[in-house]
Formats: sequence, C-alpha cells, structure tokens
Amino acid sequence: MRVVLLGPPGAGKGTQAQALVAKYGIVQLSTGDVLRAAVAAGTPVGLKAKDIMARGALVPDEVVVAIVADRIEQADAKHGFILDGFPRTVPQAEALDRMLAKKGLRLDAVIEFKVDEDILLRRIEHRVEQAKLRGEPLRPDDNPQILKDRLAAYRTQTAPLTAYYAGTGMLRSVDGMASIEDVTAAIARALADAAFRPVSGKRTARKGSHTAVRRSTGRKKPPKAAPKRKPTKAAARTAPSGRKAPSKGSGRKAPGKGSRPRRLTK
Ligand code: AMP
Repeated sequence: MRVVLLGPPGAGKGTQAQALVAKYGIVQLSTGDVLRAAVAAGTPVGLKAKDIMARGALVPDEVVVAIVADRIEQADAKHGFILDGFPRTVPQAEALDRMLAKKGLRLDAVIEFKVDEDILLRRIEHRVEQAKLRGEPLRPDDNPQILKDRLAAYRTQTAPLTAYYAGTGMLRSVDGMASIEDVTAAIARALADAAFRPVSGKRTARKGSHTAVRRSTGRKKPPKAAPKRKPTKAAARTAPSGRKAPSKGSGRKAPGKGSRPRRLTK
C-alpha cells in the first residue's frame, strides 16, 4: 500500500501515519523528520535546509525529491509506505509519479485532511504553550508567526495538489478537525474505499457509500436528467426509490467490465 497524507502543519498527519504504521506494518516517511535529522547532524542537506525550515518556507524540490527517491528504494519500503509531508508541490508530485512509474507502481490513495485554519492555528499555539510550560524543547519553526507562514506556504504551494490528484480516483478527504479516533476510522474507510477503485480512476457506485469520507473529484457535476425511455423489464423490478432492487444474495454490486477492483497491497 502506498499512501500520501496531505494536509497543513498541525493537521494530525504524523499521528495518523503512526496509526497506519501500526495497523498495516508499512513504513512512514516524513520528509520533515528526515530534514530535521539532517539539520541536527549538520549534513550538507541539513545545512542547506536549516534556515529555510526555520522561517517556515519549503526546502527546494530537488532536495526532498532526492530524499524520497533514496528512501523508497530501501528494503523496508518494498511493501509500501506512508508519505507524510511529501509531496508538497506539484513538481514533487510529478517526480513521485515518475519514481513510482519506473518501478511499475502507483499510489493507492491520497488522503486529504480538511481543516479550519483558524481553529488549527489556535490548536497549535495552545500546543506550543503547553510544551513551553512543560519545559519541552520547541522546534525552531514552532512559533505563531512562523506557523502562519507555514500555513500560507501550504495554501499557495501544497493545496493545489488536491486539483492535481482530483480525477485520478485516488483523492479522499477526511475531516481533520474530528477526534483522533474518528479521523483514524475515516482513513480506514477511505483506504477500504480506495481498494475498490478501478485502475481507470472512475469507479462503479457502491451501495452504502460513506458519509464521513468524501471522494474528491474537485469538480461539481450537474444533476443528470432522468432518461425518458420506455420501461423495461429491469425497470419493472426497480424499487419505488428508483434504485434497482438488489439481486438475491448480492452483498456488493459486482464491478462491471473495466472496473476491476485493485488490491491495496502489492
Ligand atoms: P513538517 O514536519 O512536515 O511540517 O516539515 C517541516 C519543514 O520541513 C517544512 O516547513 C519545510 O521547511 C520542510 N519540508 C518538509 N517536507 C518538505 C517537502 N516535501 N518539501 C519542501 N519542504 C519540506
């Protein structure tokens, strides 16, 4: 399973990534963590990234793309990974697609954390205050002004990724302001939903579709006018709501031709 967690700083991506690691036994790759380790170790990448990170801006694409390219080659990433904080720009997303395509792979799902920025900011400010009271060390970018800048960077450079992934059938949105448990549950449903995404990106409608998880296409479809046709035999079996009555013993609607369900794991 290869999953991208997409959301602004403080949306809970790291927490949810850890839950996914525990559940699926796949690795988490946080470019932020790798960069912080590089800064702490004083490597050439760290030296390049240090000031950029401290002011809440994005490290150049080629630096993070090289980090990810190297990391997904490692043995423990063979069965899948959760990308937390990458991609953050459209060129990074394109580089990721190329990296995976070279291996004959693609992403299974992109989970977008929908948030209210004002609440998020207050939440992060509170977290920083609490950490200060406990005497815990703070990250250099953990201060209200830098957080505002990081949110602005997200809005301008990362949010356009939802349009990039919309229409691929990969994008699922969860309410990032819900409780940790509810977000975990919504992600689990999103991943189960993504597992039945046909390769084409379009998918057959399934009964009992989720309400907490929204499949994002980025487009609003106009309502379809009901076709004016003579009632057929099949229509005669149709329930009064207009839905076709389920055939006996069918749990899930069988996917049609060209809509073969995909497995989450490889
Ligand atoms: P994070 O821990 O994901 O919030 O990342 C902390 C900081 O690391 C960000 O504010 C950026 O400066 C840098 N960073 C992490 N991931 C990326 C990325 N994919 N592209 C560019 N900069 C990144």
